[in-house]
Amino acid sequence: MLEVLRRVTQEVNAAEDLTSALEIIVERVSSAMSTEVCSVYLLDESNQQYVFMATRGLNPDAIGKVRLDINEGLVGYVVERAEPVNLEDAQSHPRNHYIEEIGEDRFHSFLGVPIIHSRKILGVLVVQQQETRRYDESEEAFLITLSALIAGVIANAQATGALSLSGSRKKSATIFEGTSGAPGVAIGTAVTILRRAELDNVPVRKTRNIDKEILLFEQAVEKTRDEIRSTSGKLSDQLGPEELALFDAYLHILDDAAISGEVIVRIKKGEWAQSALSKVILEHVANFETMENEYLRERGADVRDLGTRVLASLQTSDTRKPRYPKATILVGEDLAPADLAVVPRDRLVGFVSVKGSGNSHVAILAEAMGVPTVMGAEDLPSKLVDGTPMIIDGFEGCVITHPTEQHLAYYKKVARDEATMVEGLEELKDKRCVTPDGHRVRLWVNTGLMPDVARSLDRGAEGVGLYRTEVHFMMSETFPTEEEQRLIYREHLLAFAPRQVTMRTLDIGGDKSLPYFPIEEENPFLGWRGIRVTLDHPELFIAQIRAMIKANEGINAHLRIMLPMISNLGEIDEAKRLIDKCYSELIEEGVEVKMPDVGVMIEVPAMVYQVREIARRVDFLSVGSNDLVQYMLAVDRNNSRVSDLYQEFHPAVLQALKKIVDDAHNERTPLGICGEMAGNPSAAVLLMAMGYDVLSMNSPNLLLVKRALTTIEYKQAKKILDHVLKMEEAHTIKEYVDSQLRNAGLGQIIRSRRY
Ligand code: PEP
Ligand code: MG
Repeated sequence: MLEVLRRVTQEVNAAEDLTSALEIIVERVSSAMSTEVCSVYLLDESNQQYVFMATRGLNPDAIGKVRLDINEGLVGYVVERAEPVNLEDAQSHPRNHYIEEIGEDRFHSFLGVPIIHSRKILGVLVVQQQETRRYDESEEAFLITLSALIAGVIANAQATGALSLSGSRKKSATIFEGTSGAPGVAIGTAVTILRRAELDNVPVRKTRNIDKEILLFEQAVEKTRDEIRSTSGKLSDQLGPEELALFDAYLHILDDAAISGEVIVRIKKGEWAQSALSKVILEHVANFETMENEYLRERGADVRDLGTRVLASLQTSDTRKPRYPKATILVGEDLAPADLAVVPRDRLVGFVSVKGSGNSHVAILAEAMGVPTVMGAEDLPSKLVDGTPMIIDGFEGCVITHPTEQHLAYYKKVARDEATMVEGLEELKDKRCVTPDGHRVRLWVNTGLMPDVARSLDRGAEGVGLYRTEVHFMMSETFPTEEEQRLIYREHLLAFAPRQVTMRTLDIGGDKSLPYFPIEEENPFLGWRGIRVTLDHPELFIAQIRAMIKANEGINAHLRIMLPMISNLGEIDEAKRLIDKCYSELIEEGVEVKMPDVGVMIEVPAMVYQVREIARRVDFLSVGSNDLVQYMLAVDRNNSRVSDLYQEFHPAVLQALKKIVDDAHNERTPLGICGEMAGNPSAAVLLMAMGYDVLSMNSPNLLLVKRALTTIEYKQAKKILDHVLKMEEAHTIKEYVDSQLRNAGLGQIIRSRRY
């Protein structure tokens, strides 16, 4: 059964569109279960009806025509119960509803299972037989499992159907839900990011120059052929006949008129060579992978490998420069920080990533850049939206393709209102952040990219609470040298002096990888991350610390060095030993600088219980709430599936944050927070009330938070906190704090509906 499930899912995955996906499902299910009927009913959201979409065994002419109201018949009964309905004799069931056109009067046994994706019932999968019998447990289990496996594909195919290049292209507006990555609205044209030699991610584009595309394709095939021949020639005296035969097999596949022919047919229909190639290769790979014979199944890998080579060569020889429309919304399956620099800034208006969530690093950086971003738009067919008119709503976290005039008018107004609100905050930029009753809080910024510096100073940042040094490492092609680092750090220190600048040592791992130093792990967020990597590679740590300290020569800014991902005291002792060593060596070398402050990030839950011991060892502490929340709640900050469970206002998180302040202050150690929470005005009110000395955030949030904290009295904030600490659920806490902000006339600055 497992094998059948695997094969059906693979075939469905490879299907061209929704209709063929459904065809495959009904065909394969009826044969695997030896049942006379298999049908699929899907929800048509606009009419709230279930449509008879595919069948084996019932009247095919009724497909697309028969519709059932939401509670109608046994299909409606399955939906109502949201669980399988297994009946020996459907006809005698009170909910049975006889529909003549379908022709099901001969069939007695009925098993219907709901198709559920992200808690939403998309439709019902039904099998029927003439015989009066109950389907047995293994049949029921098979259908339930299959339904769960195909639900995502159906959701995706439904969305794709609205956008596919095929003749039935529908240009109606479609809304794709995701989560907010960075606030703001963007109206523009989608551009799907083009990745080198990634067959699975080639954007589907049209071409007008068919001859040129065919030529490019043929040249790429020829080039790949030459490369294979030459490699085979070079290795002929080192390899045995069996290995050499593989090269012949490759050449054979390339010569195969079927594959080239299919690619050319697609190009002639108006598709550019790269997506025509990827589509054909992926179809062949899927066919191989569904074969019973293991040897043939493995040949799928050869075809894929070859397709990748041809694609790489096609991309190399295609010298056309990428063109970005005036208002480009960059779309990718899994955008990474390095992708943020792909589009020239004056053409870029938004980002959309199919994977990831609002707490992914790419979203945090996008917010720092002030670029509206939607993350985790799981159903968006990223390959198919290239060139499509698009709106993204980074406040609510949704994407609209082919927006209507009404959508455009609405979002233009939202953008105008936002701009007016932001303009109104300008007057605050040179004011100190003091509550009306005299409580002072320091508002610092998080930086990473050089443009952050100007933006931060322009918004009145009082210091840098987190300089994410790894961002520069991610943009480089090798580890930057000590001198390269020194120059960059110096620029940062010079720009902010005399303000305090907190430089965090390299924090890679998790969702931050370096192209030249890949860390591949099953569980990267629980793996080799942050200080764990740098203590294992003291040469990297030492070069960075030396660069930081030396960068301060002659500036004597207030430099603070901060250690990420500390999970035990030994790591602090070891890191401090290395920092002391670097400092003494630099002094010996004649560098005249002050010893920097050294601090630790509290972002691993265990450290919440050792704040006092840590505080005695260091000069300052800063809470990394992004990671602290993910580890406390066991919710991967990068996984859109569980993004609803990532709750910064979770009562346990708030209790932990309060304990950290109390313990740090009992040791008289200054404490800040540099996770995203600090930049959310509602959370900032609570953090201030808890006693956090410094709130460090992305620069676009500085004035919003300043507005909140200069409006709400400290004693009022404390009352709100007292009330909140007795509450039990994140969403009610967020709603309560938001309502308090609204009462204070701050409704406009409330950010995100996330809690
Ligand atoms: C954090 O974890 O809160 C933090 C500020 O660090 P990062 O988001 O870079 O992991
Ligand atoms: Mg962190």
